[in-house]
Amino acid sequence: MSYKINTTLIIGLGLIGGSLAKVLRHNRQFGQIIGFDRDSDETQLGVESGVIDSAATSLPDAVSIADLIILAVPVKAMENVLTDIAPFISEETLITDVGSTKANVVAAAHRVFGTIPTGFVPGHPIAGSEKSGVAAADETLFEQHKVILTPLAESSSAAVTILTSMWQSTGAEVLVMEIDKHDEVLAATSHLPHMLAFSLVDTLAQEQDNNTDIFRYAAGGFRDFTRIAGSDPTMWHDICLANKDALLTQLDRFTTGLANLRTAIECSDSETMLGTFTRARAAREHFSRILSGTAYSQDMSDKQVTFRAQPGGSVSGKIRVPGDKSISHRSIMLGSLADGVTEVTGFLEGEDSLATLQSFRDMGVVIEGPNDGEVTIYGVGLNGLKEPPGPLYVGNSGTSMRLLSGLLAAQAFDTELTGDASLTKRPMGRVADPLRLMGAEIETAENGRPPLKIKGGQALSGIHYDMPMASAQVKSCLLLAGLYADGETSVTEPAPTRDHTERMLTGFGYPVKQNGSTAAVSAGGQLHASRIDVPADISSATFFMVAAAIAPGSDLTLEHVGINPTRIGIINILRLMGADLELLNEREVGGEPVADIHIRYAPLKGIHIPEDQVPLAIDEFPALFVAAACAEGTTVVSGAEELRVKESDRIQAMVDGLKTLGVDIEGTPDGAIIKGGPMGGGVIESHDDHRIAMSFCVASLRATDTITINECANVATSFPGFVELAQTAGIKVEKEEG
Ligand code: NAP
Repeated sequence: MSYKINTTLIIGLGLIGGSLAKVLRHNRQFGQIIGFDRDSDETQLGVESGVIDSAATSLPDAVSIADLIILAVPVKAMENVLTDIAPFISEETLITDVGSTKANVVAAAHRVFGTIPTGFVPGHPIAGSEKSGVAAADETLFEQHKVILTPLAESSSAAVTILTSMWQSTGAEVLVMEIDKHDEVLAATSHLPHMLAFSLVDTLAQEQDNNTDIFRYAAGGFRDFTRIAGSDPTMWHDICLANKDALLTQLDRFTTGLANLRTAIECSDSETMLGTFTRARAAREHFSRILSGTAYSQDMSDKQVTFRAQPGGSVSGKIRVPGDKSISHRSIMLGSLADGVTEVTGFLEGEDSLATLQSFRDMGVVIEGPNDGEVTIYGVGLNGLKEPPGPLYVGNSGTSMRLLSGLLAAQAFDTELTGDASLTKRPMGRVADPLRLMGAEIETAENGRPPLKIKGGQALSGIHYDMPMASAQVKSCLLLAGLYADGETSVTEPAPTRDHTERMLTGFGYPVKQNGSTAAVSAGGQLHASRIDVPADISSATFFMVAAAIAPGSDLTLEHVGINPTRIGIINILRLMGADLELLNEREVGGEPVADIHIRYAPLKGIHIPEDQVPLAIDEFPALFVAAACAEGTTVVSGAEELRVKESDRIQAMVDGLKTLGVDIEGTPDGAIIKGGPMGGGVIESHDDHRIAMSFCVASLRATDTITINECANVATSFPGFVELAQTAGIKVEKEEG
């Protein structure tokens, strides 16, 4: 069936009908716009104010010539109107409505038509205001709002297509939903809040003595919150009755929540109060991220950020770079599973660690912050996690997904782990397979990709696992599952990987057996709350170490840097190149070795970088290429083919960029040969790779002209505040956003 629209009839010319008429008339894509209302003054006003082309005097006549009929009357009036129009519609007539509830409109249609016409597609614009009547018609009302269509089994797809394009022509986004789902969702998001607003204002207005004062001193927040209590009482009366069951369910849930809060206040139960408030605050942001499928920190994806660095200068002073990402993740996980309150400082407020934090909040853990890197975690003990209300969304964080899968495999409840589009492409089989060997039940999408559906209530047994490839995430995942498994769980790695999980478990008082390349845990232990000052990330510190090493006159101290033996390749390599670098104040924090790194300018010399140091400094090579370009002689990098499959092909990106600056450099399949010498300026493509961007920023210290670096938005996610800190230290860089 194909529909042709020459005449559109809108029945009920109030706020919604009038607004729709106005925009359709303006767009001129849906023929003549005729209005009908039981109040002829309204249609008269509609004609006079240009909302409609003409007013229908006889409903049967108007229906007979209409190709599209839109019912914009109150939900309670729908059945009468349908009865009135039924005798005059034809097979080609398209019919829709705008009612705020859907099941009752469809039930009315069933009663009136018996068999639903194929041209009938119910709908509901999620837009409106507390005004009513055609005088309030606003042709921008639906712009950037959602419209839900709830097609029936009988509805023809051509009808759905036309109505979709009609709503899109008003500037709305169209969604399709099942009828019951619509009524359930709207009961929670619209009908319940209206009940709260009506009831709150009514309750306060009945206060005997000081009700005028209450309203006189009410701040803006109260007015915003209660604005919807100004909505049309009859319409809301009708909606309550039309969506009674779904609304009652939501009212009951809310009443229980409010009663719990009341009890918490009565008993001065701070934990429940703070839990409710922090969860609620975080939930608002969390859901907007899920809905937009974006990450946790500020969404920079569509922002163009450019760094412009002026040549010369030196770095000096004492600075602290942001916290280590791996340790930030683990501080939340183990803090949540510990008994007692864990205080974390230096937490990296990057999107990945925030994803982990939110997941534990979703599982009932009360977590305050982060506030300037400070987080307070009210641990629930190893068996205290609660079933989350929905899937755990971890954004772009592979670490969160892989580590959490180990923990979740052992919980009593089912969970689902989901992420953004790019995480959904990454393989999870490497954790799901060994977890299944322990007895876990995990379903993945095709080829072991997310989402992961993890069945709760499985008894896990310890295994010994020889990792086929070196991966700290797989090792950590299995050790975390091992905290709950029967017997011992041990993991042997083919090459050393980061051991932050083992160290932090020990820091929380949980025994870990370490025997050469094998780490093992057994169930039955307990994690004791701890205080963790997350060490600064040595990978972030690297940019400043290289800056001080290459810029004459530099004298810089980097405070509280993690010097885990699996991460200190950069220190070893810079020393071999002749850097003047000393470790001060070496100490241990939560199982992790930490030091202040003092580095002063000294001329560097080219070396062949020992291949055994490459895995210990793999993330640091972009900055090391810059150090090599400033050294005397030739530096050879080999055995670093992994650099070609990082966020960008880092060998190519550095070779291209340094060549632009006039450096004599040649790429090889597994590294590069770099001859030190003078550096000019130029425009560099960072390929959205944060480490490439920061490395060229550091290079400016030895350049003779301005360096402009494109596509720097990602720097904010791994190193929040980089530009500001670089400026403080002495690098002449500016950030431009467009
Ligand atoms: P409104 O401004 O009061 O307009 C409704 C109009 O329909 C009034 O002019 C009313 O006339 C007329 N009407 C009532 N019964 C009729 C009948 N049997 N035949 C012909 N006309 C009749 O209300 P509205 O806000 O536009 O709401 C209309 C529909 O949109 C409702 O189903 C509502 O659930 C839905 N909706 C409203 C909003 C919102 O925020 N307002 C948002 C989304 C959807 P009288 O004034 O004489 O009763």
